[in-house]
Amino acid sequence: MSTVKILHMYADMLDLYGDSGNMEILSYRCRMRGIDCIIDKYSIDSEKPDLSQYDLIYIGGGADLEQQHISEDLLTFRDQLKAAHEAGTFLFLICGGYQLMGKFYRDADGNDIPGLGLFDYYTVAPNSRRKRCIGNIVIRTEITGKQVEVVGFENHGGQTHDVRTPLGSVLCGNGNCKNSPSEGYFEKNVIATYLHGPMLAKNPEISDYIISYCINRGQSDRVGLKPLDDSLELACREVMLGRLLKK
Ligand code: GLN
Repeated sequence: MSTVKILHMYADMLDLYGDSGNMEILSYRCRMRGIDCIIDKYSIDSEKPDLSQYDLIYIGGGADLEQQHISEDLLTFRDQLKAAHEAGTFLFLICGGYQLMGKFYRDADGNDIPGLGLFDYYTVAPNSRRKRCIGNIVIRTEITGKQVEVVGFENHGGQTHDVRTPLGSVLCGNGNCKNSPSEGYFEKNVIATYLHGPMLAKNPEISDYIISYCINRGQSDRVGLKPLDDSLELACREVMLGRLLKK
């Protein structure tokens, strides 16, 4: 039986708009296919994990205050996270987690929260909280050669600059910056995004991309995923697309 081993970091502090639900969705979609899914949680006072043991590392989003609280601890993982990323571990990062993998996040009070610098982008929040990017969002992304419209909800002050390889183009909402044409950051083993919701709830293609990557890592004979009945998820997405894109 294949196994997907996940480390969910700071689940107790970075969990906006049900970001933890992404873990339930991955676990459910694995279980339905007979794939074993192990999810370990790490928080500041836990024993330090060995990141090389995991197929996927997940960090959710949080308010500026929570980002400040975890920042020092997160920095202690810099070398391990860099090594894991280079070794092909999948990094799945939502909003606050996305920001902290870049160079830095300057919050609404002007405090710089250092990022791990795994990627070249950086994020600056305007000092007025009225300028936050809040609302439903639709992006178009290409995943395993197929164009997919992905829906979610964004709420961030941070404006992320210098993203070389975005996850998708924005059809409705803001994305990396206010009225930005692009959203998120993508590499074959990284999905970093502002989408909450939780993001995977209405976007099964993204879940399956992640699961497929994790079970096929390093194997030349790729194992396909058994299709699941996604009619409910897709119907929910259609409603949102209809509402947001006035289809
Ligand atoms: N605190 C960050 C910001 O406002 C991240 C918010 C989030 O994770 N939703 O930009």
